[in-house]
Amino acid sequence: MSDKQYDLVVIGGGPGGYVAAIRAAQLGMKTACVEGRGALGGTCLNVGCIPSKALLQSSEKYADASRHFAEHGIKVEGLGLDLAAMMARKDKVVKELTGGIEFLFKKNKVDYVKGWGSIPAAGSVKVKLVGGGEETLSAKRILIATGSESTPLPGVATDEKQIVTSTGALALDKVPGKMVVIGAGVIGLEMGSVWSRLGAEVTVVEFLDRILPTMDAEIGKQTQRILGKQGLKFKLATKVTGAKNGKNGVTLTLEPSAGGAAEELKTDVVLVAIGRRPYTEGLGLKELGVAMNNRGFVQVDENFESSVKGIYAIGDCIPGPMLAHKAEEDGVVAAERMTGQKSHIDYNLVPGVVYTWPEVAGVGKTEEQLKEAGVDYKVGKFPFTANSRARSVGDTDGVVKVLADKRSDRVLGVHIIGPLAGDILAECVTVMEFGGTAEDIARTCHAHPSMGESVKEAALAVDGRAIHI
Ligand SMILES: Cc1cc2nc3c(=O)[nH]c(=O)nc-3n(C[C@H](O)[C@H](O)[C@H](O)COP(=O)(O)OP(=O)(O)OC[C@H]3O[C@@H](n4cnc5c(N)ncnc54)[C@H](O)[C@@H]3O)c2cc1C
Repeated sequence: MSDKQYDLVVIGGGPGGYVAAIRAAQLGMKTACVEGRGALGGTCLNVGCIPSKALLQSSEKYADASRHFAEHGIKVEGLGLDLAAMMARKDKVVKELTGGIEFLFKKNKVDYVKGWGSIPAAGSVKVKLVGGGEETLSAKRILIATGSESTPLPGVATDEKQIVTSTGALALDKVPGKMVVIGAGVIGLEMGSVWSRLGAEVTVVEFLDRILPTMDAEIGKQTQRILGKQGLKFKLATKVTGAKNGKNGVTLTLEPSAGGAAEELKTDVVLVAIGRRPYTEGLGLKELGVAMNNRGFVQVDENFESSVKGIYAIGDCIPGPMLAHKAEEDGVVAAERMTGQKSHIDYNLVPGVVYTWPEVAGVGKTEEQLKEAGVDYKVGKFPFTANSRARSVGDTDGVVKVLADKRSDRVLGVHIIGPLAGDILAECVTVMEFGGTAEDIARTCHAHPSMGESVKEAALAVDGRAIHI
């Protein structure tokens, strides 16, 4: 007989798992959440979204003080960097937020079981407790929310000192003279920006011939140009085939992606940021017969139930955008569907944000996707150089691009590079959730002066009637 009986046991306390556990408890399910890392919040709070944003903010303030204060008439003398203090602040932010989730668990009566879970059979979760010993939980339903891990690059073994994953890149104890970032995706560009702003000479090596491959190509090009002006160097269409650690750094071997002569690149630190892969190790899914796709993601139906009845999965370990807010929505929808509600998430409307400065943000279809699907569309664009708030703040790099259906005017995609792009994108996501049109955005009164006025103007531009350009 199992020790404890639950309606739902969630394995993994990341944004998917902890949100699902809280929502399930709100809906009256007796719920436990099993987490092995010793803190709640998963990758996102511990070694992902939150620490990276803390360092992006600190490094941005440093870069502002060293490069931009003068243009505002502010003189700074004796500017210096205390990296240990910057890291301590980041750690404090993480600790406060992960502790906050423990409080939310108590408030909602979710049992937090500290240990690594496995599923010996449907209906049962065995936990290897962090403090020693084992506990077995009996569960009507089990929700797998075990997230993801960095994808390794063959020939470039990480040691989290000289050759690091994002986790190591969040905790370097000194600013490297030179840093090579392998992979021009979101994590590579964010962490590359952090260390570049703090003084490292950063080169980003990317296999493809463009950066941010999942985002709108035009916006990607602008991003590369703007980050290039900030000092990041890019080596595109290049693959890294090997790495040699030495006393004085790392020597990487590079080749053109299409084949050709190899070259060497010497650096102090290498960040491997070529993507993330689902993490389901130790759960016993193979033995249970849980169906996975060819990339190791758990396959689920519209209720987030796997091929084994009573076992569900959400977040980074199932297909879909590997983002914290998507994992959270998965968690809410999964819990609600367990109680018979017909909740729904549309993965086409999951916004993606890169927290460089300026930020890059997008939702819906890119122009390339619309072309490929043969959709007739209209484009409206508005540059931040023509936005009065952007000019008064001094952040004029970037553009808003609205893509709308040619006949119905329905908004199909919005892509922004610019100040606070992630925040100003939110109104577009709402409009798209309601099936709204460019005209709907254009007719909406936006505060003046605000960055959001660029969204309104881009929506007006869809119909060729932007006012301020
Ligand atoms: C550097 C970095 C920056 C990022 N920035 C952003 C961002 O700005 N915005 C954004 O939306 N996304 C960001 N992400 C992605 C985001 O972190 C993930 O999409 C999100 O954390 C996925 O949530 P999840 O709940 O599915 O999994 P995770 O957050 O990975 O949580 C899974 C948890 O399960 C635990 N676990 C695994 N196996 C077991 C087991 N057997 N027993 C018990 N516990 C287990 C793990 O310890 C982990 O805590 C970033 C990621 C990284 C690495």
